[in-house]
Amino acid sequence: MSYQRPKGTNDILPGESEKWQFVEETARLLFRDYQFNEIRTPIFEHYEVIARSVGDTTDIVSKEMYDFYDKGDRHVTLRPEGTAPIVRSYIENKLFGPEFTKPFKTFYMGPMFRYERPQKGRLRQFHQIGVEAFGSQNPATDVETMAMALDFFKQLGIQKIRLVINSLGDQETRQNYRQALIDYLAPHAEELSEDSKRRLHENPLRVLDSKDKKDKQFVADAPSILDYLSEEASRHFEEVKAMLTALDIPFEVDSNMVRGLDYYTHTIFEIMSDAPGMGAQSTICAGGRYDHLVEELGGPETPGFGFAIGIERVLITLEAEEVVIPALNELDAYVVGLGEATNIETLKVVQAIRNFGFSADRDFMNRKAKAQFKTADKANAKLVLTLGEDELKQGIINIKVMATREEKSFTLEEIYQQFDEVYDEMLTELLD
Ligand code: ATP
Ligand code: MG
Repeated sequence: MSYQRPKGTNDILPGESEKWQFVEETARLLFRDYQFNEIRTPIFEHYEVIARSVGDTTDIVSKEMYDFYDKGDRHVTLRPEGTAPIVRSYIENKLFGPEFTKPFKTFYMGPMFRYERPQKGRLRQFHQIGVEAFGSQNPATDVETMAMALDFFKQLGIQKIRLVINSLGDQETRQNYRQALIDYLAPHAEELSEDSKRRLHENPLRVLDSKDKKDKQFVADAPSILDYLSEEASRHFEEVKAMLTALDIPFEVDSNMVRGLDYYTHTIFEIMSDAPGMGAQSTICAGGRYDHLVEELGGPETPGFGFAIGIERVLITLEAEEVVIPALNELDAYVVGLGEATNIETLKVVQAIRNFGFSADRDFMNRKAKAQFKTADKANAKLVLTLGEDELKQGIINIKVMATREEKSFTLEEIYQQFDEVYDEMLTELLD
């Protein structure tokens, strides 16, 4: 009997996990520069937190939740996205309090769960890096946050991307547009997909987000929400566009874009990859403004703006654009021990090197010299230290610079007392 991982999940193995670390590290450093600090929320939440935020009629809540009743009969769900948990945490921990700088800027990263049909770039356990900014209604917050997402992709070395924006306006906009959309779609109701037929009156905006081919045909000619923006909503959107232009950030407006979550207001955006072979899953980042979500979950009136990046899709994009990922795990030293008598000493040497802050490894399998050198080569070790039984008796160790094949002996004492100097000495010779 052997087991397989659940459908739609992945094991991230060495070779691949370095790429994940590169993506995550890049995000951490960049977000720090923009003054976003990390929040880590639980992997599961009360069902209501997600249902209330994301919306009962969305695909996420109506079809994709990993929800269950725990042994205490509580209705909980694995989190399908990061914003609702962060908002819950923001309210519960009173992060709106006067001791916190406004806007309150935070980021998160980690696994999300949706029961979807697995495809390339679409998994059941997938990973997001997301950010949220609470407390600012300023369109500059929308633009700063979108600019940060674009900076992130630039720093990763991703180039073929496109920023697409739209506005969903405010409540007044939504009310007016809702009616216009129903008026337009109702005569075609019988031809719409089952989902869209049902949503037409519950939440007609959802029809615009339908992935059904036939629905898409109708949607293409639907009235534009931009024609229904209230004065205030229109001003906000105009300012966003002006600021993007001021920063020389190219963008497109897609008035049919609505996003798959109910909480959005005003600016929404997606960043798409145009790299070859991305297929249908080309949206690598998506987000927008949500000015009523904090209130909706019981907090004080607080505007918000955020986005989420799909890590798996970013990795597909990196591959598609053939970005070379810098190696993070170079080995400074490999210690070759020959003969069982050297077992303790090589352990001491490798630990001493590590204590000086260098990366080091050794053999544990009693392999012959040749095999050990091969391992050192494969690990791209800069130095190889060789300790045989004779050297051990004399208290010395041989060091070889792999790049130049240059060799020199040092006393074990020198290694223990001043490996940092030994390291510099050997590798300076390389530069001469
Ligand atoms: P889609 O339209 O592709 O289903 P979505 O609108 O459901 O996306 P969001 O909820 O906005 O996506 O999530 C933000 C990002 O997270 C997406 O742009 C994508 O990069 C990533 N993402 C969403 N769902 C998945 C998934 N099932 N597998 C992998 N990545 C995903
Ligand atoms: Mg989806």
